[in-house]
Amino acid sequence: MILELHNKLKAGSISAKELAEEYLKIAEDKNKVLNSYISITREYALSHLPYKIESILDGIPACIKDNINILSTNTTAGSQVLKEYISPYTATAVSNLGKFTLIGKGNMDSFAFGSTTQNSYFGPSFNPHNINTVAGGSSGGVASAVASGSAVFGIGSDTGGSVRQPASFCGIVGLKPTYGLISRYGLIAMGSSFDTIGIMANTVHDVALVLNEACKYDPKDSTSLSLEKKLDYSKFNDISKLKVGVLKFSDDGVEKDVMNAFSNSIRDIKKFGCSVKEITIDHLKYVIAAYYILVPSEISANMARFDGIRFGYHPKGIKDIEEFYLEARSKFEDEVKRRILIGTYTLSSGYYDAYYSKADAVRRLIKQEFDGVFKDVDVIISPTSPTVAYGKDKVFDNPLELYLSDIFTIPANLIGSPAISIPNGVSHDNLHTGLQIMGPQLSEINILSLANELYKKYE
Ligand code: GLN
Repeated sequence: MILELHNKLKAGSISAKELAEEYLKIAEDKNKVLNSYISITREYALSHLPYKIESILDGIPACIKDNINILSTNTTAGSQVLKEYISPYTATAVSNLGKFTLIGKGNMDSFAFGSTTQNSYFGPSFNPHNINTVAGGSSGGVASAVASGSAVFGIGSDTGGSVRQPASFCGIVGLKPTYGLISRYGLIAMGSSFDTIGIMANTVHDVALVLNEACKYDPKDSTSLSLEKKLDYSKFNDISKLKVGVLKFSDDGVEKDVMNAFSNSIRDIKKFGCSVKEITIDHLKYVIAAYYILVPSEISANMARFDGIRFGYHPKGIKDIEEFYLEARSKFEDEVKRRILIGTYTLSSGYYDAYYSKADAVRRLIKQEFDGVFKDVDVIISPTSPTVAYGKDKVFDNPLELYLSDIFTIPANLIGSPAISIPNGVSHDNLHTGLQIMGPQLSEINILSLANELYKKYE
């Protein structure tokens, strides 16, 4: 899709302005129902059109998650406390994309904490395939925009699955690259040792084309990787020799339709000639616990900057400093408060060893175990999410119920690996399921190649 549009733009059969107008119109119409965008950037888009089509993404319409800074645009991170915030600079991942057309900033769970976009101050995003269900989260707005055709591609962030899970719910492709491959400079931090910027699009090829542009060494991010050779991720490998590990997991809590779709994809992979074997990760049962200690710990540190003085809600007319802080921080959404409380507790001197250090040690064990398995297989497949999109009125009795649904996506963030979600067929009630393919660090080309082969059946 990107390549076709690029060729048309280049040949002049459509202008960047016409394309922008067309997509802005779709966004404005659909946003009334889907709430994909926190802001639609019509003026910005029309005043930043490329004069000349040079690089591949010039003039291509995109949606960027609202926790990624773009100079002079409103960047809210889905929170009330940043409602008025205007970015003073542009994230490296965005400037690397060249002169794409910014249709708008994607809706998201407040500060990217969540799996439904229901934690957004601006209300949830809905799923274009069934508006009585949510788009997933936390990059639900971006997924909903791409799936409904108001953006050709989207950029999100993935700390525990926030690109892959909404991609799965909305029936599109979502890639979380290796930690450090795309610069985090300009992304509002959540759990810094987990955060990655990810890519969403309707095809695997489009995701690969965007990845080619997005990943470049960036001295402004101390964890940015500097690779010796620049790869072309859109040149897929032959996958017939690929060794595929099938993750063994308890089907407790995994919906029957998701299981069936997963079994079908194993059958397809065998047909490609790949060798397929079952693999076990003994520590899988600890991934949720480790993540939900380590990430809130990092969150509690990262959220300190929203003190109402440097950043965040600035209450007026309060003289007393304690009262000022109380008022400023009272404006956080509930899930944000919950995570700050948990993280402050797990980092406190009395509990640091009991919780934080233990979870960190478990993270290392999980990494070791995956390293061992990746000596044996090239990629590991699993469902992306144990369920299809939730009904928009579903009530979660307690937050843990939702946390547990991150079981398949979190491992890649714990170990810094790349993982992709691709559409994997629909449930009996026509809701999308997703297949996740995960590999060792910097194995993007393998997971994209297998994903592309599997994806063909949906084209
Ligand atoms: N659902 C996960 C969480 O709530 C993942 C969020 C993310 O990747 N930003 O933490």
